[in-house]
Amino acid sequence: MPSESVLVATARSLRPKTEEPPVPYDTRQHVNACPFCRGNEGKTPPPIAVIPEKGDWALRIIENLYPVLGNDRDDPNFAFGLQQTIEGYGRHEVVIDHSSHGIRIHEMSQEHLALLFSIYRSRMEQLYHSDNRLKYVLVFKNFGPAAGASIAHTHSQIIAMPVVPDNVQAEVRNTAAYYQASHQCIFCSLIDEALTFEVTIYDRGSGEIRRKINVGQFVIERSEKFIAIKPFASRYAWEVHILPLLHQADFLAAGTDDFVDLAAIFKRTMARLNAVLGGVQYNFFIHSIPHGAEYEDNAPAFHWHIEICPRTTIPSGFELGSGLFVNTICPEDAAGRLRNVSLDGT
Ligand code: AMP
Ligand code: ZN
Ligand code: ZN
Repeated sequence: MPSESVLVATARSLRPKTEEPPVPYDTRQHVNACPFCRGNEGKTPPPIAVIPEKGDWALRIIENLYPVLGNDRDDPNFAFGLQQTIEGYGRHEVVIDHSSHGIRIHEMSQEHLALLFSIYRSRMEQLYHSDNRLKYVLVFKNFGPAAGASIAHTHSQIIAMPVVPDNVQAEVRNTAAYYQASHQCIFCSLIDEALTFEVTIYDRGSGEIRRKINVGQFVIERSEKFIAIKPFASRYAWEVHILPLLHQADFLAAGTDDFVDLAAIFKRTMARLNAVLGGVQYNFFIHSIPHGAEYEDNAPAFHWHIEICPRTTIPSGFELGSGLFVNTICPEDAAGRLRNVSLDGT
């Protein structure tokens, strides 16, 4: 749960500024020049994992050829005046999400997405266990140039870093403060609140359930084990968060069954974003409790989740200078549109 303040300024959407254009849909399954396409495996560093190991691969994890973090700083204590540096040690890996070049998340099968989540989990686990200098493992995806993607072939990334990033630390602090005050996890409270609007309509005669409306004002989708919510006052107009319904601090604690269910809700949520926004450019990332003894006490307060941030506008100098995000669409309206859009054939 981000702690930035947000201005919801709907009048501002009237100003004559075009939104970030949707990415033209790349329907190509294979591109000869693409380093992530099948047949071009030699254009990437040797794989860390190939799934399945034999036959045509469905997913590959490779070292990033241009890593943000690597082995290259041997002098962790470098400091010069106010210029303190931290050890640049880390790992930066690319997950080639799918062999099909232009496939979008909502077009991948549920089984494939469940596999993708379990690959994230096993790689995160391996990285945490591989070196105790690695303090946080972040999984994220960039889709489209406005979201920072430089390669069109569908991919996500795993960065294992020697520090817990500030925004995750802020989440840990804020959730701990809420827990201290109310003895509840803030995300669990949020879910309870969102589901307060749940309504079941029974058939008077037979007593059978005629219609079950599982949606509150901010609920986009709900499955057996997960919920997709439009966060109140979100930074990005179409931001959606997906959380497990039951309290769970660590993504690594999720099981295969959870991922099958998560895959279904994720696919439908991405289909909704696509249906409302067209070829939307976006980032998503997983926030999970940091590992390390100092975070163990925070497990009752922290609740892992996926944040999906569609990038329909580029943050401006005002946002950078003030730390206030401007959101020009009322969250209830955005949630309503996402919830009500028709998903024909999805
Ligand atoms: P993005 O940051 O979304 O553009 O992801 C693409 C990532 O792939 C970048 O971080 C690049 O450093 C990395 N990359 C580009 N070309 C290759 C390659 N041939 N092999 C491995 N990684 C690559
Ligand atoms: Zn490709
Ligand atoms: Zn919780």
